[in-house]
This record gives sequence, C-alpha cells and structure tokens, in this order.
Amino acid sequence: MVEWNEEFRKLVDETVKEFLNRHPEEATYLGLHEYDDKMSKGSREEFLEDLRMAEEVSEKLSEIPEEYLNYDNRIDYELLEMFLEENVFYLKDLQFWRKMPDAAEHIGNAIFPLFVRDFAPMEIRMKSINSRLKLAPNYIENTMKRIDMPVKIFIEIEKQTVRMAPFFLATVVDVGGKYVDELHDTAEKLHNKFEDYESYLEDLSKDAEERFWIGKDNLQKLLKLRGIELSVEEILAIGEKYLRELKEKREKIAVKIAGSVEEAWKKIKEKSPRNFEEMLHLYEKYIKSAREFVVKSGFCDLPEGENVRVIPTPEYLRHLIPFAAYYPPPKFEEKLEGLYIITPPPTGDYGEHNEYSIANTCVHEAYPGHHTQFCWASKHRSIIRAIGNYPAFVEGWAHYCEEAVAELGYNNTDEHEFIRLTDMIWRAVRIIVDVKLSCGEMSVEEAIKFMVSETGMDENSARAEVMRYTQTQGYALSYLLGKHLIKKMREEIENMLGDKFDLRWFHNTILKEGTLPIKILRKIVKDKARELLS
Ligand SMILES: [Zn+2]
Repeated sequence: MVEWNEEFRKLVDETVKEFLNRHPEEATYLGLHEYDDKMSKGSREEFLEDLRMAEEVSEKLSEIPEEYLNYDNRIDYELLEMFLEENVFYLKDLQFWRKMPDAAEHIGNAIFPLFVRDFAPMEIRMKSINSRLKLAPNYIENTMKRIDMPVKIFIEIEKQTVRMAPFFLATVVDVGGKYVDELHDTAEKLHNKFEDYESYLEDLSKDAEERFWIGKDNLQKLLKLRGIELSVEEILAIGEKYLRELKEKREKIAVKIAGSVEEAWKKIKEKSPRNFEEMLHLYEKYIKSAREFVVKSGFCDLPEGENVRVIPTPEYLRHLIPFAAYYPPPKFEEKLEGLYIITPPPTGDYGEHNEYSIANTCVHEAYPGHHTQFCWASKHRSIIRAIGNYPAFVEGWAHYCEEAVAELGYNNTDEHEFIRLTDMIWRAVRIIVDVKLSCGEMSVEEAIKFMVSETGMDENSARAEVMRYTQTQGYALSYLLGKHLIKKMREEIENMLGDKFDLRWFHNTILKEGTLPIKILRKIVKDKARELLS
C-alpha cells in the first residue's frame, strides 16, 4: 500500500528544493546560506521553465488522493495547490515578467539580506555579495532580452531605482574590507552595465504600453487564488463604507481634542522627535512598551528568544523606504531577530513620526503585529506555511492588532484614537485605489489626487504609494479587508464558544498555524473551537 502522507511530504520537499535551487535569493531570505553566492538568471527561459515546473508539480499533486492524507497534510496540500496555481497565473496569464523590467530592484533585493543580516562575519558575507554582483550584469542582460511587452509606468519605476545604483554600489564597496579591491572591480563592471541598461530603458519607454492594470476579471481570480471569497464589488463597497464612517468618527474625536481635524493635527505633531537620534530612540522605547503590554495583558504568547532590532535605513534604500519597514527573522536562522529599519524623513519634518504614530506603528510592525506573527510562522514545522504570500492575513493581522490592543487599554487616549482612525482611513483609501487602479477605472494621476485629498498625505508620498500599488495589484486592499475578515472570524468564534471563548486562545490559535489564507485559517480555527466544545 502506498503511504500517501509520505509521498506527499516527499513531493513538498522536492518542490521546495528545486524552487530554491532555481531562486537562490529566496533561499537567502529564508536563512539557507549555501545558496548565497548564486543568483537566478532572469532570462525568458528561466521564467518559462518555472511555469513548466509549476504545471508539472500540479500534475503530480493531482495524483495524490487528498482524502488519504492526515489533517495537517490536507491543509498543506491545499496550500501547495494554491501556491502553484497562483504561480501559474502570474507566469502564464498576468505575465509581469514580460512587462516589468526589474533588474535593478532584483539585484538590490538579492544583496540586501547579505548586507544587513549578521548571520556570519562581514567578510564572509562580502564574499557572497561579490559573487552575486559578478552575476548581476548577466541578470541585466537577460532582462533586456526578456521584456517584449513593456509597460510605461513599470519602466518609470525601474528608472528611479537605477538612478540609485551608484550610491548602492558605493555603500557596498565602502565596507568591503579584505575584498575591497575585488569589489571595486566588480562594481565598476556592474556600473557600466547599469549605464547600458539606463539607455535601454530610455529607448524602451518610447513605444511602451500605457496599460498597467490587470483588469477586473484577473483581480477577481487573483483574490480567489489567495483565498478571498468576496467579489471585487463587495470589497470596493467595504472600502467605501469604512471610509465614510471613519471620517465621521475622526471628525468627532478631532473636535474633542482641539476643535477641528486641522487643529488636532497641530496638537499631535507637537509631540514629535526633534532629530533622527531622538526618533530612533522613540521607536526603541515604543517597541519595548508594546512588548511589555503583550506580555502583561496576555494578548498572546511570544516565542522564546525573539527580539526586534532597530536600525537606520541604509542610504541606498532610503528612496524605496521613505518611512520605515520591518523584516522578519528568516525561517531557518536560529536567531529569532526581526529588523526594523527606519528612514529619516526626507523633508526633515518629524511630524509624521509623532509619538502617537510611532506607538501605533510599533504595534503594527512589532508587537503583537508582524514580528510576532512571523516569529510564530517561522516556528511552524511546515515550510509551505512560510513561503506563501497571503497579504490579507499578514497585513490584516497587523492592522487588526492596532485596534485590538486599544480595546484592552493600550494606546487608548483620544490622540491615539485620532492617529489610529487616520491610519484606518488611509487603509480604506487603499482598498478603493487598489481596486479601481487594478480594474482600469482610475488613472495614476487620479489615484494620487484622491489619496492626497482623502488622507492629507503630501503629493510625493502619495505618488510613491500609488506607483508601488501598480506593481503589486491586489495587495494594498489587503490591510483593511484582512482586518475586517479577522474581526468577523472572531465574532463567529465568540458566538460558537460563548462562555468558553478566550481572547488569548483565539490569538494564539491564529498565530501558531503559520502564514495562511484567511479561508483556510477560518476552517482551522473553527475545527479547533469545535474540539473545545466537545
Ligand atoms: Zn504591515
């Protein structure tokens, strides 16, 4: 008799191994360092081979009868199926790989974890960086051959990234140590290639397509593949409803604080750091206090040995991360350390980093938000639960936490509430903009205008936001939508369990299952709740 559970795990292991072999950059992100000196090729053939592989594994998967698998494997089966289908959809239907030149961004991403993660002495990491940078001209060359359906806005975005390449290379050479001469050589060759690439992009722009949007049918399909069961229209309606209600709520709070939204802003921005040093210090302080709150209130468990390290954003990344960004601990690294990188405000205006905003962001990014979620996910024994891309859960959870901690008494002054509502308004706007952009119902310029008028964001930041949405259609809508779905799930489970409902249990159950689409997560939580009842 065939042991189907074994067969299935074998297929999973083989698929993951093959995937990492073909995409060494992903392996580095996961903390598997035997791939650090390699890089993917970025060629047309490579993408076609990825497609062929995904189809082949799907075929093999369909030969395994799901009903013979145990509970955990059945979940992973469904996840692998979704992962493959989404890959095929990207490669075959959406075909961004033919439309979006991404060499500069890709090379930056390939170097980044080697640069900022101290899993080995700098010297060893520099050796890997040098190897990857040596392969980079080839990646650029292949990219230039691969783009045969160029899209204007994607070229614009890449041009901005290429402009930062010299700074990025200088930063790397600067810390080269023993490898400084070799790196200098490598950087010079790459620099020349980037110059070719820049003029190539200039030419490519001339008869590039205006159309960047994937269209309504594709958006619907993409969301379904990520386990969202609502229609595009329903999602848009959710965004519009929230936007209306949240604005009203914020008006009322603003009146309480200082008479009007404008005056409330002024008052809130008075409590801002005066310089970058103070700002870093405040982030550290609020990360610490958010962590203390999670422990004291019993919001959820924290895995042993985790921590978050705050560092200033490296120079060459500052245009890509105008505010701040969190990087989770790699799945296979022993140390459970998240990185929180913070950019000094390009305008020198520290008001955006007022204390209330910092307090709220630290909940979202660190405790009990992203850092907590990713630490638990990386402890899950199944690798499939670490590589999936389920933004409605990931962003939904972090956004859910902002309000959930306030309900328990943390960050609950009127000023905090004002900031939280402002951030929610921004997420509601993201739903509307993401849906309309992806459906081709809103132009980039219209989207920027809408963001500025609804959120009060400055035009440059709004432009950077909207540009990013065009590259990751279907992502920006995930924050508020995911939160909405998690709240609904909580209600459902509370109703099921009545007196037996325990918030800490609910949070732990969600966190300890790994990164999942909401659809599957809901099923698991309901099964566990039923167990509690029996
Ligand atoms: Zn987030």
